[in-house]
Amino acid sequence: MTSDRKHFVVLGGGTAGWMAACLLAHHWPHHRISVVESPDIGIIGVGEGSTPQLKAFFDTLGIAEAEWMPKCNATYKAGIRFFGWSERPGFESYFHPFHTQIDLFTEPQFAFHTRARRTGRNVWAHPDRFFLPASIAANGRAPLAPPNFPFAIGYGYHFDAVLVGKMLREHATSRLNVQHLEYTVTHVQLDNAGNVESLQTKDGAVISGDFFVDCSGFRGTIIQETFGEPFLPFAENLFNNAAVAMPSPNEEGDILSETRATALSTGWAWRIPLTNRVGNGYVYSSRYIDKDDAETELRAHLGMLDSEVEARHLKMNVGRVQRSWVRNCLAVGLSQGFIEPLEATALHIVQATVEGFIRAYENGGETESGATQFNRSLNERYDGIRDYIVAHYRMNQRSDTEYWRDNALNGNLSDNLKTIMTAWYSGGDLNEVIQNLNIAQFYTSLSWHCLLAGYGTFPLDEKLVASTDGLPLADMDDIDRYISGCLQNFPSHRAALKNLSS
Ligand SMILES: Cc1cc2nc3c(=O)[nH]c(=O)nc-3n(C[C@H](O)[C@H](O)[C@H](O)COP(=O)(O)OP(=O)(O)OC[C@H]3O[C@@H](n4cnc5c(N)ncnc54)[C@H](O)[C@@H]3O)c2cc1C
Repeated sequence: MTSDRKHFVVLGGGTAGWMAACLLAHHWPHHRISVVESPDIGIIGVGEGSTPQLKAFFDTLGIAEAEWMPKCNATYKAGIRFFGWSERPGFESYFHPFHTQIDLFTEPQFAFHTRARRTGRNVWAHPDRFFLPASIAANGRAPLAPPNFPFAIGYGYHFDAVLVGKMLREHATSRLNVQHLEYTVTHVQLDNAGNVESLQTKDGAVISGDFFVDCSGFRGTIIQETFGEPFLPFAENLFNNAAVAMPSPNEEGDILSETRATALSTGWAWRIPLTNRVGNGYVYSSRYIDKDDAETELRAHLGMLDSEVEARHLKMNVGRVQRSWVRNCLAVGLSQGFIEPLEATALHIVQATVEGFIRAYENGGETESGATQFNRSLNERYDGIRDYIVAHYRMNQRSDTEYWRDNALNGNLSDNLKTIMTAWYSGGDLNEVIQNLNIAQFYTSLSWHCLLAGYGTFPLDEKLVASTDGLPLADMDDIDRYISGCLQNFPSHRAALKNLSS
């Protein structure tokens, strides 16, 4: 062992633990990486949707889609369709697309139309007709362009989280030399300086290391239980704190390349299509509905009131620790925080945390200033993503239950979110505002426009006037032709999935 060879010990073998181990071992083959996983404490086992970042994760590790997707019953995801978040006629649903270069041509026209509508013109301003991924998903296609297609197409995945964990464990141990230890940690031993020295287990084993990565799930064994790092809850603006999940059989016909997020009485239900089943769940606030009623509402929503399929109930700690990197410990995954699953950002943050840590560690090693800077930038990411999620609730256009009315009246908003809302309602230039706030790296202006326009947050229809003032509006028939022409390049989702296995 050379003197600069360090031992990184990852505590936890959930998705976060194995993603962290794979990235560390891939980037640092000269260091020793171990994963300690309890045979007694299970993984959370939900979390089946991703952002486009996950493609970069598999590309970095050199794991081809044909290798991992069939093993994990995975499907492609072009974006998320939101149903029922607005009661405005014509805005019953909208699609939040993942980025494609095709959409760069229509994005300025969409932004222009939404601004014209915000200032009272009766012009087309629903997002779906402007963006290719909405059409890809609506037509049962996969967001997979042919090799000679000249534009980049971003996409994410749906997958079985338990199988992804197994596949990454196999990859880490067989190809990246990661050591897998099955122990339940009962005590975290600190040295005189307050750094973690070792993990002590139920069987009396002692696992020493130089640096520890806490992936122990919501309990946060090192970061929260041992170091007592404060947890900052987001409960004042994200009310949901529980979920109930259950699978349903796949339907005949297309497998959708979209996640569906349908607003229910007290939260929303996810629908995630895999190749062998559909994953469903209801994310709700226990302040407004109890777990039995939430389960009944989910079953009714799925048409499974009489089904014997069991439901799983989960609690969620929504918020984040004050600092993820403390001393010789980095918290990753649910131990560092969780912003409820509405935009499926948790694994995205896992990846960003580990990659950001690797860069920071390589640049400055284990210095106080390196950790401080890293934590600041990670917290900005957390809070930036949180603001976008909060906007879904604060801007909701429903009035049927106390839950939705309370969300719409919630005044606990960040300054950034207030600025965005003011710009939107006052007819301001939202692109410019998002640029000035420097938050486009969390959610782009296109995403913000889709959310706000998708809910139909415009002046009431009867107040709109015909647009006769010569504004350079887009010809919507041209846009339809453009999008449907592009669409012809994309294969059916079923065919693309079959192709992976052949
Ligand atoms: C309702 C819900 C829906 C979600 N949907 C999405 C989604 O669509 N997309 C997304 O990206 N994310 C989603 N997530 C988040 C996602 O599930 C998690 O981020 C992901 O699974 C990572 O979890 P984890 O590895 O941090 O924790 P866990 O899966 O809880 O793993 C913890 C690990 O730590 C080990 N451990 C704990 N204590 C000890 C101990 N004392 N000794 C030894 N080992 C120990 C356990 O054995 C286990 O291996 C969702 C979460 C919830 C709650």
